Amino acid sequence: MVAEIICVGTELLLGDIVNTNAQFLSRELAELGITVLHQHVVGDNPARLEALVREAAARSDLLVLSGGLGPTADDLTKETVAAAFGDTLHFDEEEWGKIQAFFARTHRRPTENNRKQAMVPTRGSKIPNAHGTAPGAWFRDEAGRMAVLMPGVPREMKAMWAEQVRPRLEAHQNCTIHSMTLRVLGGESSIASKVAPLFESDNPTAAIYCKTGESEIRVTARAATRAEAEAACRARVEEFRAILGPCAYDVDVPGLAHTVVRVLREQGLQAATAESCTGGLVAQQLTGVPGASEVFGYGFVTYASAAKTRLLGVPGELIERCNVVSGPVAAAMARGALQASGAELSVALTGLAGPGGALPGKPVGTVYLAGGDARTGRVHLMRLDLGGYADRDNIRTRAALYALDLLRRMALGLPPEFGLTLEPGQPVPEL
Ligand code: ATP
Ligand code: MG
Repeated sequence: MVAEIICVGTELLLGDIVNTNAQFLSRELAELGITVLHQHVVGDNPARLEALVREAAARSDLLVLSGGLGPTADDLTKETVAAAFGDTLHFDEEEWGKIQAFFARTHRRPTENNRKQAMVPTRGSKIPNAHGTAPGAWFRDEAGRMAVLMPGVPREMKAMWAEQVRPRLEAHQNCTIHSMTLRVLGGESSIASKVAPLFESDNPTAAIYCKTGESEIRVTARAATRAEAEAACRARVEEFRAILGPCAYDVDVPGLAHTVVRVLREQGLQAATAESCTGGLVAQQLTGVPGASEVFGYGFVTYASAAKTRLLGVPGELIERCNVVSGPVAAAMARGALQASGAELSVALTGLAGPGGALPGKPVGTVYLAGGDARTGRVHLMRLDLGGYADRDNIRTRAALYALDLLRRMALGLPPEFGLTLEPGQPVPEL
């Protein structure tokens, strides 16, 4: 089956919004084994939309449209596609009842315009919208070609896709699809080179998406039953993990902080943070995870040197002698955070996020990360060189990610990615 995606909206053409619907739909259709021939964007103009729909329907089996199902005069997708597919629309009392109820729940009244949203295909079918007012529509012409119309609002579109459209297309394709997302620390190129052969398979497929400091590998399997698709996915994910090692940190989680909170909870450990250049980013990410209070009680944002001394007991003399951005200060912060919080594990960060402030031998992007372990008295020390990423946000985000990873590794008893481990009392070398 071949498909085309048509996103309707003048605001897309003007560049006011990014066409995230097209990206989402392309990825989903590819997973269903449906070839996407074209993505189109067209303004709220019935003549141009109708011409495009006719042109696309002449060469493709399936048109997937988003946008223009709203109540306003420029929302004309349904009428236009109905015309191109030789169908008509009629008023649907049941949909109108749902629309009225939707408004009543939010203490509003529908306007006369909203009646337009209760118009549904006569030969085709309506698609219920559990997350908004406008139902979608499914048209089919004599030749069996299909057009699926969904709302433009991404949240509504995705829900309608997942709940109504995708299952029908899966049935049509005679298969079930399952996806898993493996999250991996590190850049796309370093990862892709290690696991290149695994990206060549047709089923399961694998695709890599780059994020700041990490990548996602999405594995998708197609099979006759759900259990088979899941098993094939899981087996492929295990192959990836075997090659990638500990930098592949979890499956189907929103981010590293979720994994860290889970691991700390499983190990019965508490963590504390002491942050300078990241200003609380690590704490913010940990507390973004539901249930973080079980494993995280203390986060220190010690931006000024005096705060490092007062809250974490870092000797002023040490800061004077070694500079506040240094390994010894990071190690002292990590130890101080353990002492002040009573936690088993800590991470501490001090660095130069820029853009100004470079020091001799310490360019912008130099960050010292220390991880303290109260159980052994050891401190792990890493010098991160993040200057290649230049901008302040990026440096801070990546530094926080390294800190979360160090916490994860300490909690799991895995060796840190690099750096050195200091025994209690061992002097801290300058890195
Ligand atoms: P409504 O009932 O809200 O009018 P609609 O189905 O008519 O919904 P549009 O009016 O086209 O949809 O779009 C509503 C909003 O959804 C837009 O303002 C925009 O923020 C978002 N949107 C629309 N199309 C896309 C797209 N292709 N990608 C991302 N966002 C989109
Ligand atoms: Mg609209």
